Amino acid sequence: MCGIIGATGAADPLQLILDGLAALEYRGYDSAGIAALDAKGGGLWRVRAAERTESVEHLGSCLDGAPDAIAAAIGHTRWATHGAPNEANAHPHVDCSGQVALVHNGIIDNYRQLAAVLDAAGHLRTSQTDTEVLAHLVEDELAVDGTTLVEAVRRCVARVEGDFAIAVVWTGEPDVIGVARRTSPLIVGRAEGLGVVASDIAAVLGTTRELYQLEDDQVGLVGPGTITVLDADGSAVEPLAVEVGWSIDAARRGGYPDFMTKEMHEQPRAVADTLLGRVRPDGGTELEELAISDDELAAVRRIVLVACGSSYHAALVGRQAVEAWAQLPAEAEIASEFRYRQAVLDESTLVVAISQSGETVDTLKAMREARSRGARVVAMTNVVDSLMAREADGVLYTRA
Ligand code: GLU
Repeated sequence: MCGIIGATGAADPLQLILDGLAALEYRGYDSAGIAALDAKGGGLWRVRAAERTESVEHLGSCLDGAPDAIAAAIGHTRWATHGAPNEANAHPHVDCSGQVALVHNGIIDNYRQLAAVLDAAGHLRTSQTDTEVLAHLVEDELAVDGTTLVEAVRRCVARVEGDFAIAVVWTGEPDVIGVARRTSPLIVGRAEGLGVVASDIAAVLGTTRELYQLEDDQVGLVGPGTITVLDADGSAVEPLAVEVGWSIDAARRGGYPDFMTKEMHEQPRAVADTLLGRVRPDGGTELEELAISDDELAAVRRIVLVACGSSYHAALVGRQAVEAWAQLPAEAEIASEFRYRQAVLDESTLVVAISQSGETVDTLKAMREARSRGARVVAMTNVVDSLMAREADGVLYTRA
């Protein structure tokens, strides 16, 4: 889950968005994009790039077709959870009419059910993301005469299960940005004639220090110099002011002394994200990408976890979990050793290859070796569509 930035009323909106995206780069991302509304009624303009860590830089060189005068603009850096990191899946996502553009951090848990309803109603989706349904839901709500953007956003998120921070622009109200959040962070800010939106203080610290935090299930509308916040029922509420005593550098670290401490404190969130939509109320699990049937799993007699470095430590913990919960023999192996051994494997062995990036060479090679010896292989990784995710029989994404 990555970064959001938005601005309205800015003197140089695209530069503000690009600077904001650059300030969010420290989080890591796989693609990026910007949408802007023409202040002279020329509609919505969008640019997206999937050059991984070069995407924000690349966007900066693609501004030629942008409108001369921009009212509101939104930008996004993506860390894919649903759908490969490519241009079609990069945010902002638009509705069928190209009038609504939306960026999202988080996971829409019930996107398949929502997509089925939207598809049946004739909406045309063009990405594999969970996010895109939101743009079409807003479009649906706006189709009712007299509906304002903030009301459409409020009704849209009422239909959604999952985690989200969103920012939405619409040609019908070109000066404002609609926002909403549940679990994923989102702040809004204002200064004379300026309104900003961001997932992270670091992205907007240079623009204003008058910042407010949206609370869970609140919806908002940010205009040039104005902020309106509503609760889930649509009644206006006072937004919660954020005290900012930090420098930009400290803000990137979330006020923690270093990134490692910050990431340690983020662990409960990362674990919750990983479980989202995967644990059923009856205690069962839903692992859509696993792609190995229940019968095949039942036939597994032994599990070998292979990994390098800190992922190897995760494998050691995994071994205990498999033994305790699945009551199967389990081993943890260092991938660089495993790949050069004549390991005895067969179809009843499940090899779980763990790598944050999904591209650790020794682990990838160990995985290939295991497959060539007849074992089934599941990759456990944080990067959607990484090499290991593509080559394995099944995959478990960690969403961290
Ligand atoms: N789930 C969304 C996607 O995969 C948002 C990911 C993010 O937070 O960057 O596109």
